[in-house]
Amino acid sequence: MMKYVIVSGGVLSGLGKGVTASSIGVLLKSAGLRTTSIKIDPYLNSDAGTMSPFEHGEVFVLDDGGEVDLDLGNYERFLDLNLGKDNNLTTGKIYSKVIEAERRGDYLGKTVQVIPHITDEIQNWIERVAHMPADGMEGAPDACIIELGGTVGDIESAPYIEALRQFQFRVGRENVTFVHVSLVPVMGPVGEQKTKPTQHSVKELRGLGITPDILVCRSTEPMTEETKEKLAAFCHVSPDAVMSTHDVPNIYHVPLMLEEQGLCNILDIDCNGTSMLKEWRAMAYDLDKLTEDVSIAMVGKYTDLSDAYLSVIKSLQHAAMKVRRKLTINWIEASHLESSWKTKNAEDFSTAWGLLKSSDGVLVPGGFGDRGIEGKVVAAQYSRENNVPYLGICLGLQVATIEFCRNVLGISGANSTEFDENVEYPAVIFMPEISKTHLGGTMRLGSRPTIWQVDDCKIKRLYGDGDSVDERHRHRYEVNPDIIEQIESAGLKFVGKDETGQRCEIFELDGHPYYVGVQYHPEFKTRPGKPSPPFLGLLMAASGMDL
Ligand code: GLN
Repeated sequence: MMKYVIVSGGVLSGLGKGVTASSIGVLLKSAGLRTTSIKIDPYLNSDAGTMSPFEHGEVFVLDDGGEVDLDLGNYERFLDLNLGKDNNLTTGKIYSKVIEAERRGDYLGKTVQVIPHITDEIQNWIERVAHMPADGMEGAPDACIIELGGTVGDIESAPYIEALRQFQFRVGRENVTFVHVSLVPVMGPVGEQKTKPTQHSVKELRGLGITPDILVCRSTEPMTEETKEKLAAFCHVSPDAVMSTHDVPNIYHVPLMLEEQGLCNILDIDCNGTSMLKEWRAMAYDLDKLTEDVSIAMVGKYTDLSDAYLSVIKSLQHAAMKVRRKLTINWIEASHLESSWKTKNAEDFSTAWGLLKSSDGVLVPGGFGDRGIEGKVVAAQYSRENNVPYLGICLGLQVATIEFCRNVLGISGANSTEFDENVEYPAVIFMPEISKTHLGGTMRLGSRPTIWQVDDCKIKRLYGDGDSVDERHRHRYEVNPDIIEQIESAGLKFVGKDETGQRCEIFELDGHPYYVGVQYHPEFKTRPGKPSPPFLGLLMAASGMDL
């Protein structure tokens, strides 16, 4: 029988529910259980693809082209999985399915209602997807973590709570563990640990028919025994099932912290001394010991909101771990680098340039829309002209191409049609197959092959053996295939192209320590201990290592 761990959240969002749920997954996997996961997002959007990173952080992209919540990235990285779009369940998807069935006549004669039609469909979906393998092996997994987004008590999550309440009877109570993640604030001069918010949140959950088996409480410091006992008494949970997830130096400590507090006993699994947990422990403690610095300038648009670039940050961290350096990310708002900003705010301008010039490497991540574009262009120019290691991802490849056309080929009117439809010299153009009328799920998405065009170059060596690489895409524009020859003759080589041999996927600049652009998003496939090759190259070059 499959084991289900259902993780809900209380009090407020942003408690690290996804990290807690993935960490529980690490323990299940360490105990030898093949584990998968499902993230439920109760919003009405079909998927995360049309949402701004300001709303929910980055849009994570899967092999099958699913544009999903960033928590699926946590699961893929922590559990080394390859999930599919169905692993992210949204209200938009469920309602579309039920309404389609209604139109077909599947419920003929019945009134279609939230209970039972929506709640049944949620349960069917969960059971079906939980049985799909995501670890590259055959057959159904042994365990599934289900994370319910939002906070208990939200109107939109009510049908899911009801479906999950019923689900325990469908699959057997003994096969379901309910985990509730909550907050214990520390207040006042003596640092009193407050339990009332958690008490209220559990009361709300129990009122909806679910009694948590385990409480995981976020706090700034370890919870005292007294606090745990109080929570146990008021929340109808066994005292050993009250866990604290307090602040730690890095997130790899979270599974260890839960294991040390006895989570494995409660889940009735044995992960004591398993090699996976040993590796995990070594990684967590090793990371704390790194002292030698490396700094990367991140020239982006959502620099106030690091979740907008979560996978890029993870990729940088994984690569930094591999080269044994302590990573500093210098966040630079791209528009602050533009000369026009100098007249608006000279201080921002000089801070931005100071940060750029003091960084060991430069990264321009993906993005949409024209804000900050000229700032990204000058960041690419600065890196190219000063031999500073540069990695351009998707939009970062496109701006570097525009910069090269303008300043090396001398075509001042070069731009992307994304920013200027009537551009004089279209260096980057709209891809012919992309819809101009529908924005949801219509980009060039998901895993596509890139075929090497050369026998040897830095980025090819980083990827290792093989004629091609498979990485995940998410874009509407591409380098104009008509100008590739002209650009290449000036030294910017398109060393990887798509299967048609027309579309540029990777460039590398001759005679530069590391100047690489990729049209795809390598950040979606990084793993701790197995960093994404383009990021590893950036960090190696930024640390002064030969490539
Ligand atoms: N806006 C660009 C495009 O659509 C880049 C997209 C991206 O960086 N993901 O092609």
